[in-house]
Amino acid sequence: MAEKIRLKVKCHACGNIMEGSAKYGKGQYVPEGLDFKFVATGRHVDQAGKAKVRGDVEITCPHCETRNRYEI
Ligand SMILES: [Zn+2]
Repeated sequence: MAEKIRLKVKCHACGNIMEGSAKYGKGQYVPEGLDFKFVATGRHVDQAGKAKVRGDVEITCPHCETRNRYEI
């Protein structure tokens, strides 16, 4: 059961908005759109009782080539 993760982040260096998505499930990660690197660190349950994956995201900005890291 793959979980779709939508990502919209801003480059720390140049402010470029980067959008993409990834599928996460059974240890597999398939990037869509921009090439986000995703490392799962756990799960958290939201107010609706739905479990969502948590992790660290890394992407190299296509505009200025700075490596950015985010926690989701
Ligand atoms: Zn940038």
